[in-house]
Amino acid sequence: MGLFGKIIAKITGTTQATRADWDELENALLEADLGPELSADIVKQARSVKAEDATSALTEILTSTLSKKPREVIRATSGPTSILLVGVNGTGKTTSVAKLGLYFTSQESSVLLCAADTFRAAAVDQLKTWGERLDIDVVHGADRADPASVVFDAGQQSVARGVDYLIVDTAGRLHNKADLMAELGKIKKVLDKVAPVQEVLLVVDATTGQNGLAQARVFSESVDVTGIILTKLDGSARGGIALSIESALDIPIKWVGTGESPSDFAPFDKNLYLQGLL
Ligand code: GDP
Repeated sequence: MGLFGKIIAKITGTTQATRADWDELENALLEADLGPELSADIVKQARSVKAEDATSALTEILTSTLSKKPREVIRATSGPTSILLVGVNGTGKTTSVAKLGLYFTSQESSVLLCAADTFRAAAVDQLKTWGERLDIDVVHGADRADPASVVFDAGQQSVARGVDYLIVDTAGRLHNKADLMAELGKIKKVLDKVAPVQEVLLVVDATTGQNGLAQARVFSESVDVTGIILTKLDGSARGGIALSIESALDIPIKWVGTGESPSDFAPFDKNLYLQGLL
């Protein structure tokens, strides 16, 4: 039974759900990381329908909370499709670059990866290792190279080689929001000149709960985030953060990560996700 299944079954079976039942549902929504506002709103809407219709009403309410924006990858009309991955360190950014690379190569597309997190030698090494394992080329610069120059080089190479996708790993730890904005802005501007950026995907760790929403707010103020990769959904996370972000910021979750292996990755499936919750 899904996350709310037990509570919904209880409510549905009664002619009149009690105040305690609704409180229980609200608590379950909160524990699932939907956040206080959205949880209260959902319960309010659910209370306005007859208790026996609770399941279908909740499905409808949750569906309407999700973003209506398309979830397919935005492709360049000509030349390589450039994708920037941004996000706080530790969320699974580098792993997701590799996962996305494997996802596209298994669809017979050609891919080039770019290690632009030059602040951390370990991140560059990590991506190089993934590249070797997955047999995907990785463009990188010298230690502490200017990320924009590495990205420019990768953009030129992606055009010269005629690859389908260029996927760029960026730095996640900058001193403050102004630094972050300046850095991401510069990377995007430089890449736009050679291989225009189609997607800026924010990597959010589902286990960080409502903090994920705060991160999504900061990044979307700094750069035009076109989609989210929600990682670590295999752990204890209830995944409600997806609804929370989509309803607050209208940014669609495009992929989900469900493990450490590169194949633990899939496009976000709205129906499967809601089924899981309910
Ligand atoms: P970055 O600092 O954002 O680049 O994060 P990394 O890609 O280095 O990942 C940080 C840790 O999270 C590593 O141990 C990864 O193996 C792990 N990780 C990444 N994605 C997932 C996921 O979907 N599920 C699980 N369980 N672990 C993940």
